[in-house]
Amino acid sequence: MRGVIGNERAQALLERALAGDQARHAYLFTGPEGVGKTTTALAFARALLCQRRASGQSDACGECASCRKVASGNHPDLTIIEPLKENGKQKFWITVNQLREAERLATLAPSESDHRVFIIPAMRRIKEGTANTILKTLEEPPPGVTLILIANEAGEALPTIRSRCQPVQFNPIAPDVIARALRERWNVEAAEAERLAGLANGRLGWAVRAHEQPDTARQREEALARIAAMATQAVDERMRVAATLGADNASARAALDLWTLWWRDVTLAANGARRLLTTGEPRRAAERVGPAIGPERARVFLETLLAAEATLDVNANPRLMMENLALDLPTALVARPRGA
Ligand SMILES: [Zn+2]
Repeated sequence: MRGVIGNERAQALLERALAGDQARHAYLFTGPEGVGKTTTALAFARALLCQRRASGQSDACGECASCRKVASGNHPDLTIIEPLKENGKQKFWITVNQLREAERLATLAPSESDHRVFIIPAMRRIKEGTANTILKTLEEPPPGVTLILIANEAGEALPTIRSRCQPVQFNPIAPDVIARALRERWNVEAAEAERLAGLANGRLGWAVRAHEQPDTARQREEALARIAAMATQAVDERMRVAATLGADNASARAALDLWTLWWRDVTLAANGARRLLTTGEPRRAAERVGPAIGPERARVFLETLLAAEATLDVNANPRLMMENLALDLPTALVARPRGA
């Protein structure tokens, strides 16, 4: 599957399925936001639907009518199930009617190829009571049907659904892979590529967006500096920052993403690692804070952050969550530079 970067194990598994003409009826792609799950799902769909893909090959030709229709988002045998828009704004939930319609489409023969592909880019957008609507397709899949369900955490899909899917795990992409892709594919100059890769937290998707919208990277750098500063602040100051970060779900998610990124560096530094993920002042701060806090406390807090990130969608009160994290945050007052 040309054009997909990183996550070689996941790619290899899907390429073998394509080359052997043995695509499964259902896949569950899991992994953090922005590491290429949807891009991979689309590349897989394009290869399945391509009219000119030779047998034994895993690459779509990229030129046939089918490939062009997938690229422009109007292939009749590819259905992407996302929440509907209302007055230009996307709703949060996928409705039961959308799933019923997909279920009905799945029973029809494909109109232009041998396959029908359904992609659900965010399983967390399906309510628990609604999810079972797709069970019938999963239990008795019509020939040629492939469902690709995408989730940040496997827990977003019910066990009854999970057990019927082939799991495919996606991981954050290493900063040097992101930097290289930015240089080679998007013609970003070397220093800028490294800066963006250091801020991306393994998410190529974010790095590409930040390259296209320069303000995005600057804002993220400022937010990262604020979060790094918390580790040396007194508790009332930390609580004040936490309340701002947890103003709503979206801002809490963005803050947690940065917090885990920076805290990974603190954990690496606590363990004596030289190669950190971030660059600039956040990196220097992690180098001071990590050894002062020590490997064990750093690891425990990183796990707390990751757990918080995983439950954010079901947590009704992001502000309370951020304040609790600010309280639990191991601080490194001793790590302040002399004279500060
Ligand atoms: Zn093609």
